[in-house]
Amino acid sequence: MKNIAPKLTAEQYAKNFSEIHRPFNKNGALQEANRCLFCYDSPCTKACPTHIDIPAFIKKIATGNLLGSAKTILNSNWIALTFAKACPVKVLCEGACVYNNENEKPIEIGRLQRYAIDAYFENGMPDIFERQPKKNKSVAVVGSGPAGLACSAELSLLGYDVTVFEASSVPGGLDTWGIAPYKTKREDSLKEVALVEKLGVKIKTDTLVGKDISTEKLLNSFDAVFLGIGLGESRDLNIPGENLKGVFSALNFIAKVKEEKWSNVDIGKRVVVIGAGNTAIDAATESVRLGAQEVSIVYRASKEKMRAYYFEVELAKKDGVRFYFNSIPKEILGNDFVEALKCVNSLSNDEFVIDVDTVIKAIGQNPKTDFILSIPGVELNANKLKVNPQTYQTGNEKVFAGGDAINGGKEVVNAAYDGKMAAHGIDKFLQK
Ligand code: SF4
Repeated sequence: MKNIAPKLTAEQYAKNFSEIHRPFNKNGALQEANRCLFCYDSPCTKACPTHIDIPAFIKKIATGNLLGSAKTILNSNWIALTFAKACPVKVLCEGACVYNNENEKPIEIGRLQRYAIDAYFENGMPDIFERQPKKNKSVAVVGSGPAGLACSAELSLLGYDVTVFEASSVPGGLDTWGIAPYKTKREDSLKEVALVEKLGVKIKTDTLVGKDISTEKLLNSFDAVFLGIGLGESRDLNIPGENLKGVFSALNFIAKVKEEKWSNVDIGKRVVVIGAGNTAIDAATESVRLGAQEVSIVYRASKEKMRAYYFEVELAKKDGVRFYFNSIPKEILGNDFVEALKCVNSLSNDEFVIDVDTVIKAIGQNPKTDFILSIPGVELNANKLKVNPQTYQTGNEKVFAGGDAINGGKEVVNAAYDGKMAAHGIDKFLQK
């Protein structure tokens, strides 16, 4: 890259990447918990994809029963710390809180959940869960992201021997590598991995299924298999200049930032992010926080069609990110290094050029197909792994799947829910 943004001081990086949601102290948590009306039909619970009994866990905080509160949360959602910090609560539980109807501030459910779960981890993850007797059957879980971890934890409590196969050397999948560091830290995700291991799940890292262990071996050695493999490589733009130096995929960029060795991440002075989902917004705001001086988002459709949440867009705007709507990238210009992005305005057909040093592609990911299509009975439908929506079973009766691989890329909280429900689908199948 030619025009690298000047490096910041360690203090500046730490400030730029500090958490955007601060934790509650004891008084703050008690005050907030006591504001809850403990609604009998709790719309907040209905809006939560994992259906946590929100009034119940808040009531337990209010009465000082933090362990009981954590148990209520974890019984519904094993990835509770990450989601307390990174869930889009404004459009889920907090967005449904009855206080919104009175134009009052909704209960800060995410921060209260974090308060209870932080206390659980600080207390050394006590074993507070009910277990079923051992069933002498084993399940292989492929992938240690939110779907794989949730499925493993649940299966372990149901009495199964569970082994997780993870291609990366650090487990946790998107929760470890894909969430902006001012929302969650890698350690948050690794605490959740440690909890799942404490429940008895074995995690084999650096083990790529299809290469380090064959699919035949997996199918022959285990009674069932769960695929929590997420999605594959970032999609290409398929325009000239895509191979120039300084063009990155958003996921690789975010994973690099997540290592927290910020001065090692080179970013151009002028950055363009292509795409308008939440990942694009993360990449743009992270570029600003690394010291890029001009950061823009280029999106082919109108503002109204953006997939990113309004509060994420607001964050980007606050960071000074500029938006080009109805703008279709046509060519990346440069000579070895990126120098500019040529676009066409889809309303006027006018061409324009933005001078840039870094282009970040955030237009989604392709499905992962490497080894799964070699499994008899497993197939894709519209680029998504086909499963029975009730049981999460694929066309192969021994193989189940959940998370981004079956929904094409929703929230991580949906992946955790899938993983948990698939564990019960597997249990039913193995109990037949
Ligand atoms: Fe509490 Fe709001 Fe949920 Fe009612 S809707 S139980 S006030 S968090």
